[in-house]
Amino acid sequence: MSRTVYVNGAFVPEDEAKVSIFDRGFLFADGVYEVTSVLDGKLVDFAGHMKRLERSLTELDMPSPASTEELLQIHRELVTRNGLGEGLIYLQITRGAPADRDFVFPDPEETAPTLVLFTQTKGIVDSPGAATGITVITIDDLRWGRRDIKTVQLLYPSMGKMMAKAAGAGDAWMVEDGEVTEGTSNNAYIVTGGKIVTRHLGNEILHGITRAAVLRFAREAQMEVDERPFTVEEAKAADEAFVTSASAFVTPVVAIDGVSLGDGTPGPVARRLREIYVDEMKKAAV
Ligand code: PLP
Repeated sequence: MSRTVYVNGAFVPEDEAKVSIFDRGFLFADGVYEVTSVLDGKLVDFAGHMKRLERSLTELDMPSPASTEELLQIHRELVTRNGLGEGLIYLQITRGAPADRDFVFPDPEETAPTLVLFTQTKGIVDSPGAATGITVITIDDLRWGRRDIKTVQLLYPSMGKMMAKAAGAGDAWMVEDGEVTEGTSNNAYIVTGGKIVTRHLGNEILHGITRAAVLRFAREAQMEVDERPFTVEEAKAADEAFVTSASAFVTPVVAIDGVSLGDGTPGPVARRLREIYVDEMKKAAV
């Protein structure tokens, strides 16, 4: 069945949706995005995603095409029109399509931003990765220096996923100066010395919305959290590891570069945090 998508003010069938070839998202990756998960037809942590969207736009001096309230209505309308029970909503905003290709940003008074949203059906709660855990490889982090902005420049993360696939692994963790930054599309954690360790916020990683919620729930459950960098060696010797993202919630990592963690099955901290996250987020979804 054809999806209904949203493009610049209109809900249209996906095969009728159009964006200009001069769109700066296409020509320069001059755009930002957000991914919000949907559980039981409701939006998970919508406020968090909209707050980060605002920050991404501000950091890039990009105008917003709609208010948070308008974006909420568009998200809800897409859920309804597509009968989405569980899955994801992708939102992309670009700096629009000026008359000519030019590196210089167009005047926002003359060029309106492009706003696109679409749904993707996905079983997130009962995903195979949650039950068995995933394996990861480590690769150099070759991305640009503002990874805190959620831009649509996803070529290197795509290459990382391909490197993982070629190695028979589920994902790749990126490494800079010997320390893990994050996964290709998620934040990375280890559990060692009784503490949950994950890299501190900065320009080197995306400030995960799932990360913020999971760390809050961990602290509320009296688990110790240490926000600091960790090395690949420390990760391989850890008791357990996991990743977080809106599209995978909390997913256990059971091996790094072929080295099994613990007994090679999902660890208790990751399993507990996943349970708490799903329960709490279902309750708070809008
Ligand atoms: N880090 C990167 C590089 C990502 O692409 C993502 C999600 O797409 C995350 C972390 C997790 O962010 P969130 O929890 O907001 O989905």
